[in-house]
Amino acid sequence: MRVLGIEGTAWCASAALYDAEADSVLIESDPYEPDSGGIHPREAAEHMSEAIPEVVDSVLTAAEERHGPDAVDAVAFSRGPGLGPCLRIVGTAARSLAGTLGVPLVGVNHMVAHLEIGRHRSGFDNPVCLNASGANAHLLGYHDGRYRVLGETMDAGVGNAIDKFTRHVGWSHPGGPKVESAAAEFATGAGEVGSEGEGAGGEEGSAAETDLLDLPYVVKGMDFSFSGISSAANDAADSGVPVEEICFSLQEHVFAMLTEVSERALSLTGADELVLGGGVAQNDRLREMLATMCEARGADFHAPEPRFLRDNAGMIAVLGAKMAAAGDTVPIAESAVDPSFRPDQVPVTWRDGESV
Ligand code: ATP
Repeated sequence: MRVLGIEGTAWCASAALYDAEADSVLIESDPYEPDSGGIHPREAAEHMSEAIPEVVDSVLTAAEERHGPDAVDAVAFSRGPGLGPCLRIVGTAARSLAGTLGVPLVGVNHMVAHLEIGRHRSGFDNPVCLNASGANAHLLGYHDGRYRVLGETMDAGVGNAIDKFTRHVGWSHPGGPKVESAAAEFATGAGEVGSEGEGAGGEEGSAAETDLLDLPYVVKGMDFSFSGISSAANDAADSGVPVEEICFSLQEHVFAMLTEVSERALSLTGADELVLGGGVAQNDRLREMLATMCEARGADFHAPEPRFLRDNAGMIAVLGAKMAAAGDTVPIAESAVDPSFRPDQVPVTWRDGESV
């Protein structure tokens, strides 16, 4: 089976071809990069309307060159969650393409796709999944036909919480990678500020031991909150704390919260596998903390390669193929998008007798 996937929930216009027999994924993406501030929904939708036809055309052309006119067996698209104006463009493109090609349409939940790509790439059977993405943050575990939300953010998504701070200090979007490099610079004492900071002393690891700012750490069972920490980080910047020092403490606090709730989820479910998904999962420090925790409790840990972590159509095509193989397709008349589509609303049709 070969599935053409289309993604465009917020910032990344992306199309992909998944060839299940070869287990190969071709991805073409065109990101929206705001000139200033964060993601503007109208600008993002304008970007989607220009970029989606181009990435789809590019992938379809490559597919037909390789496999001929019957290259695509199904079209899968991100049905939600995401920005409504962007989702509607993706939905329209997918319906039109499925109709033109005469193939079934598959409506994919973007958050379940973040999870399933990790399960697919790792070969894990029944992992807990931490989705650490821009607009979301939650822990999922499978039980009785659904992915249950074991814990989640009570307010902002993890990437959005970090980006809120970077916007405040005037850094361009996306802020996460910039926070990562500033924090690493502070931790090694290599930066101007780090070498001045008490305890940094140019010694690797010393910042981690002595220089954490006192920021809000909010975990309630397996739920957590980021709104307080974003505001406190902004306040620290306003009061003159060096930005690299704030980046370091922000990361340590936020990722410790995510590591704590992941460990609790593994402990309470008895699972011994953890997969990580979402754009923030590209952060080395987050992966390091989760891997250390898993190693300490004898669990296996997997984070897919970066092209499958940030928003991408590869994960939509892969889950779309599993759903199509299970007969889980959607009539065009019933394929409306859903900006608030939660992962636990999805009946998991594809796990019994998985064939792709
Ligand atoms: P969702 O998947 O919930 O719809 P999204 O559409 O915002 O979220 P993602 O691609 O999953 O998209 O994640 C983007 C987020 O990842 C941004 O907030 C960005 O700052 C963050 N990010 C990217 N790289 C890093 C990094 N190295 N460290 C921390 N955060 C990062």
